Amino acid sequence: MPVWFLAMVPIAIVFLWLLFRTSQSHKTQQSTLSSEYFKGLNYLLNDEQGKALDIFVKLVESNWDTIDTHFALGKIYRKNGEMDKAIKIHQGLIARPSLPERYRSKILLELGYDYLGAGWFDRAEGLFKEVLIEDKKSQEARHNLILIYQQEKDWFKAIDIAVDLFAENPSVVGPMIAHYYCELADISKTKGDVTQLENNANKALRYDTNCVRASIMLADQAKAVGDDKKAIKLYEGIEKQDAESMMLVIDSLLECYANLPPSDKLYDYLVALQDRHENLFLQNVIASVLEKSQSKHAAIDYLSDKIKHQPSLAGLQKLVTYKEKEIDSDEVFADLTTAISVMQKDSVEYRCQKCGFSTNTHYWLCPSCNHWGSVKPSVIESDA
Ligand SMILES: [Zn+2]
Repeated sequence: MPVWFLAMVPIAIVFLWLLFRTSQSHKTQQSTLSSEYFKGLNYLLNDEQGKALDIFVKLVESNWDTIDTHFALGKIYRKNGEMDKAIKIHQGLIARPSLPERYRSKILLELGYDYLGAGWFDRAEGLFKEVLIEDKKSQEARHNLILIYQQEKDWFKAIDIAVDLFAENPSVVGPMIAHYYCELADISKTKGDVTQLENNANKALRYDTNCVRASIMLADQAKAVGDDKKAIKLYEGIEKQDAESMMLVIDSLLECYANLPPSDKLYDYLVALQDRHENLFLQNVIASVLEKSQSKHAAIDYLSDKIKHQPSLAGLQKLVTYKEKEIDSDEVFADLTTAISVMQKDSVEYRCQKCGFSTNTHYWLCPSCNHWGSVKPSVIESDA
């Protein structure tokens, strides 16, 4: 059985239901409508779309209550990737001089979706804007405009539209606006415009106080100009925004501490951080700090003890590297280290908490589900 025929089955069901509904309300027109409907349906099933459409357009003009048939048909075509056919249906409707006003924005929305599906963002943008002129409150039109601007990386326009939606849904829209400002901050950074970078990052934090990305940008900037104390404060503040994201900045944090006079502050901070968040893997970081501030033996003792409670490939690899030179059978250890490296490469560093997409590169916008800020460093799974 051909695929298009299977696709027509839901259309036939929708048609029969609409036919039944129409016949209930307009008994006098029933016989004409029925025969025309069946004629149209017959054309559709014979894959003669053009003839079928001509009939349905005539039907809708005589009775606008049958417009749902067109919407249903358009949706099915769009779902099957036949955008040209969906566009033809909706364009046909919008061109009817007898079209009642109440259906206009709905048809424009549908046509906008057709254009989006066909990848014609300019035309889709124009239509969604038109919907907003007709229906100022249309959240659907705003939402689609945001997606288009995001796709085109037009952050100013995305912010303009999103700000209107903020009051109604701050917990969802706030983080989105924050990321748009971070994108602008990124551009300022590339241009070397520090004032604008900081302005945009601070605006991001106003819309989402937990915007880790903005805090990282401000901290990186402080670090770049040698204000290590300010940078440390900002990096450490990320724990309150999202503890797991501390893994994104741990190396930068170590670099800042390295520029300050030696003290136990870093070691104490890291041990306390590990205590507060057992799922963060800080064993190797703490071992390195101990090695530098005390001795290699202190690092080995710490790691040997920790690895018993929280075994991990990374921890084991570090321990092997430490002990390698103390043991005669160098080759065995070399092989073991290589094996562990290979196994570690297979493990995933970041995972999207919305859709489960896993990656070894960090993204602020998930490439799989298009959600902002959901790709996070992998943490140790709890046994509980
Ligand atoms: Zn995702």
